[in-house]
Amino acid sequence: MARHAHKRIECGLSTPQATARTMKDSAETLGIGTRLAQLGRMSDAHYGFVNTPLYRGSTVLFKTLDDLQHERARYSYGTAGTPTVESLESAWSALSAAAGTALAPSGLGAVTLALLTALNSGDHLLMPDSVYLPTRALCGKLLARFGIQTTYYDPMLGAGLAALIRPNTSTIFLESPGSQTFEVQDVPAITALARERALTTVIDNTWATPLFFRAHEHGCDLVVEAGTKYLSGHSDILLGLVSANERLWPRLKETYRSMAMLPGAEDCYLALRGMRTLHIRLQEAERRGLALAEWLAAQPQVATVLHPALPSCPGHSFWKRDFTGSTGVFSFILRPGFSRDDLARMLDAMRIFGMGYSWGGFESLIIPFDCRSYRTATEWRAPGLCLRVQVGLEDLEDVRNDLRAGLDRLAGRGA
Ligand SMILES: *Cc1c(COP(=O)(O)O)cnc(C)c1O
Repeated sequence: MARHAHKRIECGLSTPQATARTMKDSAETLGIGTRLAQLGRMSDAHYGFVNTPLYRGSTVLFKTLDDLQHERARYSYGTAGTPTVESLESAWSALSAAAGTALAPSGLGAVTLALLTALNSGDHLLMPDSVYLPTRALCGKLLARFGIQTTYYDPMLGAGLAALIRPNTSTIFLESPGSQTFEVQDVPAITALARERALTTVIDNTWATPLFFRAHEHGCDLVVEAGTKYLSGHSDILLGLVSANERLWPRLKETYRSMAMLPGAEDCYLALRGMRTLHIRLQEAERRGLALAEWLAAQPQVATVLHPALPSCPGHSFWKRDFTGSTGVFSFILRPGFSRDDLARMLDAMRIFGMGYSWGGFESLIIPFDCRSYRTATEWRAPGLCLRVQVGLEDLEDVRNDLRAGLDRLAGRGA
């Protein structure tokens, strides 16, 4: 377990969406487990039931003409919020030390919502070369259609990013660690630069979650989380969250209300359910991820392990300085000389690891990746084939044995 794993997470609870429950605790500093158990609950409004029920609804009825014309009601219409949606939003704002949160029907939807909040047409956007691939497609296609130019930057740049700022640059996007390749960025250096130049920063914080990286406290304006991953924890929903600081919250709220692209009620309910056990699952992900990463680093078929908590990962020192933990998704690079057939022999016969996209669920996953073809600001020079793993909640011994057998097959040994 990493050195910070048990550090208490102290978050501000001031949010306009805060429920009575969260307000009550605002003066205290509670441990993360306690907070995850208490946030976003409105039992008094629901006959004492522990969980906010699943509200489905478009129409909300008003009692009088006066109420209707003055929208005098706690809730006015389905797109303007329900108790289920509000429970999740207020819990996430409190957890993230944000001024407010807006939801989206997927993680990519949340990236889109955040970028449409930050950008105006004709703006210039800075994007890390290690960004989640569909985010790159969003910039190259949809945003380009609205006259937004994107320049990709080396994710290891900190204050050096200043050289790429143009007169029309408005936004710096960060994703730390990077998708697949796990470069950890110097977030404080970048947010300091952004503040100095009056730029907006947006970070995709999906890997760390607010439990292991306090993005707003490190100066980020908008923070994206694919709730599809660890918040859900069970590979059964798609969800995105965008939290904003005081400066960006009015603009995020306005953008969200203009589009009203919200997740389904049931997915919000399941995200709240996932939130109650997030700390326990992340602690396990961290313990298993580190054990597996260290074991892999010692295997003869493996050249390098890209895990933010290991010194072999670019930006490891930033991880050590800024993060309070690591999760269970990381990559490793094989030694040169293995063919695609070798890889197929390894992967096709895995018994525990499934092959598939996404991560953060209870099941272990493994996928090969190759980012040589789309990187533009940096050259990806891995010595061999690259694999990303997500360690699930299966017994670690079984998980390790599955990988060991796979590496044996790769090397032409074993069945
Ligand atoms: C998965 C992921 C997303 C997108 O989430 P979806 O819900 O699958 O759209 C965005 N960013 C990162 C870093 C992700 O890993």
